[in-house]
This record gives sequence, C-alpha cells and structure tokens, in this order.
Amino acid sequence: DMNIADFDADLWNAMKAEEKRQEQHIELIASENYCSPRVLEAQGSQLTNKYAEGYPGKRYYGGCEFVDIAENLAIERAKQLFGATYANVQPHSGSQANTAAFMALMNAGDTFLGMSLDHGGHLTHGSKVNFSGKTYNAVPYGLHPDTGDIDYEQVADLAREHKPKMILAGFSAFSGIIDWQKFREIADEVGAYLLVDMAHVAGLVAAGLYPNPVPYADVVTTTTHKTLAGPRSGLIVSGKDDADLHKKLNSAVFPGNQGGPLMHVIAAKAVAFKEALEPEFKVYQQQVLDNANAMVNAMQERGYKIVSNGTKNHLFLVDLIDKDITGKDADAALGRAYITVNKNSVPNDPRSPFVTSGLRLGTPAITRRGFKEADATQVGHWICDVLDNLGDESVEDKVREQVKALCAKFPVYS
Ligand code: PLP
Repeated sequence: DMNIADFDADLWNAMKAEEKRQEQHIELIASENYCSPRVLEAQGSQLTNKYAEGYPGKRYYGGCEFVDIAENLAIERAKQLFGATYANVQPHSGSQANTAAFMALMNAGDTFLGMSLDHGGHLTHGSKVNFSGKTYNAVPYGLHPDTGDIDYEQVADLAREHKPKMILAGFSAFSGIIDWQKFREIADEVGAYLLVDMAHVAGLVAAGLYPNPVPYADVVTTTTHKTLAGPRSGLIVSGKDDADLHKKLNSAVFPGNQGGPLMHVIAAKAVAFKEALEPEFKVYQQQVLDNANAMVNAMQERGYKIVSNGTKNHLFLVDLIDKDITGKDADAALGRAYITVNKNSVPNDPRSPFVTSGLRLGTPAITRRGFKEADATQVGHWICDVLDNLGDESVEDKVREQVKALCAKFPVYS
C-alpha cells in the first residue's frame, strides 16, 4: 500500500472525483486555471522535503545547493517576465505576498487606500474581516457609477484628504484596464507608496496584453495560479532600484511572516515562468481575451446586461438586477448544468454579498483546455438557456449533456 489508492481509499476517491469534475465541467471561475503537467510534476517532487529558510546563498540550513539553483531560476525568470529588477518567489499565496508588501511599506495603524470589496477589490485590500483592515486604517475607493471605471477623481480626493502611506491598485472583479500612471501621479502628489496587486491579470501582463504596472509601482504583488497558469502561490516583484526596499521586502516575507519556503512550489513557479516566456503563451492569452469577448457578445445578444458594457480583460460581470434572478440561484442552476461560476456583487447591488445579483465569469480555464470563440459563444448561449429557464430541470439536463460532450472533446490532462 505504497500509493494513496491502496492506503487511503476514501481520500483517493475524493481526489479522483475532483479530477473528473475538472474534466467534465466548464470552468468559468475567473481566478482559476489548469496548470501544466510539468507544474504538477514539480509540485509532486522531492523538493517538498527540503528546509531552506533564508535566501539563495544565505540559508539557515545545510544542503541547499540544489534548491538554491531552483530558486534562482524562478527569481531570474520572474524578473525577465515582468521587466523587474527584484523578485521574491517565496510567498506561499497572493494573500501572503500582500501581507509582506504591507509590512515592508507601512507600520501598523498607517492609512492606505484600497478598492472596496463590493466594487471589485480583494479581501486583502482593506476588508474589515482581513488583516489588512484590522491592522491598518483602510480607506476604500470604488467605481464611478456612470462609467463603471475606477473613479480616479475619488481616489485623488481621498488621497488628499487622508494622506495615505500607501495606495493599493488592483482587483478581483473588474473588467476594465487600470491606468497605472494615474495611480502613480496621485501617489506622488501625496507622497504615498504605490502597491499594485496584479493577481488577476499577471498572465495578460506577462504576454504584453495588459499594461505592465512594474514601471509605475513601487511594489507589485501577484498570485501565480490565475491567468499566469502556474502553481497556487504568490510572488512579489519591483522595478525600483532600491536596495533598501528590496531588503525590507525580503525580511517581511522571511522571517517577517513566513518560515521555510515551499521549494517544490518554487520549482513549479520556475517552470510556469519559463512556460510564460514561450511565444505560445502570448497566443494563449490573446485567445483568453477573444473568448471573453465572444461570450460577452453572445450574452448581450440574448439580453443580458454586462457591467461596464463589456470586458477588456479575461473576466466580466453579468448584472442580473433587472432580471430578478439572484446570483446565488444562477450559480446553483449553472452548477447543476456542469457550468462552474461564482456569484458576485454588481454595482448598486440591492442584495447581500451572500446572495448578490450578479455572476463573475472568466475564460482562462476554458481557453487552457482549447476552447475557441465558437465554443465560448456556445457556452454563453448555454448560460442564457439555463438562466432564461431558471430551475427548469429539463433545460439543465439538456445543457449538462451538451457540456459533457464538449468537454470530452477537450481533455485537460489526457
Ligand atoms: N489578490 C487578488 C487581487 C486576488 O484576486 C486574490 C485571490 O483571489 C488574492 C490576492 C489572494 O490570493 P490567495 O488566494 O493566493 O491568497
């Protein structure tokens, strides 16, 4: 019983069922993706056994000569990918990358501006239930009600009023393009640091299809598992030639808020960054954008309202307020049809964050398995079929069979 299947059938069955779900369902959660078999290989490797507290060449443990090579490869590739002069590949997750960046740039109690959760920001951008809102004085900004774009006037006004130590730009649910330069100008006017969290768009940035924040920000954080398609993890980069800042960032990650780095995950990041440097990665990211547009067009044709009237990135929000359907019910109905989405608040949402009046849809995962515009258009129509006939089992059954047939044509890990 050396393998999981023989040793632990209960766990094995759950793992196999999850693998099947990932193959059979259409995955539209904007923050998810399928990493490559090479990334899985690195994560399942013996590098998991190694303690390597510290940084390459300056470790607190012996025997680090080979993991040093792996970490240096990841660092150099991250710098190349984003045009950075500094990279820290040790954060275990996007949240931990943000924790470290906050620690490096601010002291407890300091004020910062971040996009509010209900306008598309992340929990770590100042939510009251998160370290960011508990440890620091978070002042939220949001979208302009008329344009659906970031309200830069509001950001500037809040910056002048509150004199923040740091301004945080970045999002989990926003379909536009952020003007990094405008954020830089506002930060400079009030003497604030600019932190950009590019978690959602890192893959598009790497491919040159979304503006790179590195030339504008003091520090840029990201996850590595969304559009970037690597392992579930985090990364910090900077374009500033500021040795003091680099040192502060390094010590905020270790020993500030982490212990030993996950060397198998760092190896997986090195693989994913190499993949992202290949020309095919750009082709993939362009297809992500094309598929998102195709799906938006299909749903608009069917009378569904899209927040900001479309998308300029890999995700978009469906506004169901005038359809009188809740995000919660829409999410559940689509799930029964094997289409995985998440409910999401939309601007001026009358419902609670647990119910919502919207859906967030994204195309990184379907594109990774090979869907093109025609498939994305088809998926858009299936979503409308299910939502037009909310709770109609025969429609859900019919869509589910079609979903399974389409997925079978595009195996993820064949
Ligand atoms: N930052 C942004 C903008 C995100 O969307 C997310 C995840 O959804 C995170 C940070 C947090 O990443 P993690 O889940 O790896 O902690």
